[in-house]
Amino acid sequence: MMRAVLVSLSALALAACQTSTTNHYYSAESGTDAPSSGLDAEAPDTMQWLYGSGEAAANSIQAWRHLADYAISVSRNRMARQSVSMGIGGEVADPQSCQTPSGTKPLAVVFDVDETVLLNLGYEYWVAATGNSYSRETWKLWEESGATYVKPVPGAVTGLRRLREAGITPVFNTNRQYSPEGAARAIAAAGLGEAVHRDTLYLRGDDGTTSGDKDGRRALIAERYCVIALAGDNLGDFADIFNDDELPAAERRELAARGDLAQLWGNGWFVLPNPVYGDSLKGTVGEVYPEGTRWSPETASSAAPAIMNEGN
Ligand SMILES: [Mg+2]
Repeated sequence: MMRAVLVSLSALALAACQTSTTNHYYSAESGTDAPSSGLDAEAPDTMQWLYGSGEAAANSIQAWRHLADYAISVSRNRMARQSVSMGIGGEVADPQSCQTPSGTKPLAVVFDVDETVLLNLGYEYWVAATGNSYSRETWKLWEESGATYVKPVPGAVTGLRRLREAGITPVFNTNRQYSPEGAARAIAAAGLGEAVHRDTLYLRGDDGTTSGDKDGRRALIAERYCVIALAGDNLGDFADIFNDDELPAAERRELAARGDLAQLWGNGWFVLPNPVYGDSLKGTVGEVYPEGTRWSPETASSAAPAIMNEGN
């Protein structure tokens, strides 16, 4: 029972990192009870996978290697230099030339921060160990003071080093909102290098809105940089339209996996795994399993053809 409760609580955590336009997780109650389960309790499945498993580490390294290989390859081909698609239907939706009247814009890759370049182990530990859930107050404290309790996403340190060595600037576009200094400290403490607010680090609000939407900040970054790739753990790190609250899970999945956008994955857009929290986690059983997929043993026994023993 506790495990089930913890799993649901984990989905509420880190709402400040969400890119959703209206964040329903903000209604979560805060609490400051002393740890009730502690270190011997089973961690929630999703946290075991993301923060504890070799599979997640391998998955992340795979994405980071692919990203660095892709961006370095683009940087070496001057003829092919143009920005990647950013947003859908927005002002930076289509690839743009990197040339300006005064020269070529510097190359950049735009990264989300939380669960893309660093893992928020300290905050998630507190959620898992105590049963408390996300609150603005505790998240604000985390942004301001949690820098030494994070780890880099596996593959990120090497990936960012390779980009910088190739002359490509990492730019961070995060929905953290309380402390640019704390975000820069966390990035540095994870071994991911320097991040300068409003130059290579953009927080929620830096585009003059209070929204978690990122298209506006992507446009701001694109004024100065030729953005050749995007990376994130939430589809809103690529285009705001994915995180429309009205978009049912199946349509969101269809949008990501069909047509023009499908060819961007691994080819300019690079996604990192995150089953712990975020806009990916929605849908009823009926929505996740459409008609035609609802098998059961009873279905099987009534529909299975008789097995003939033909002696061979
Ligand atoms: Mg994130």
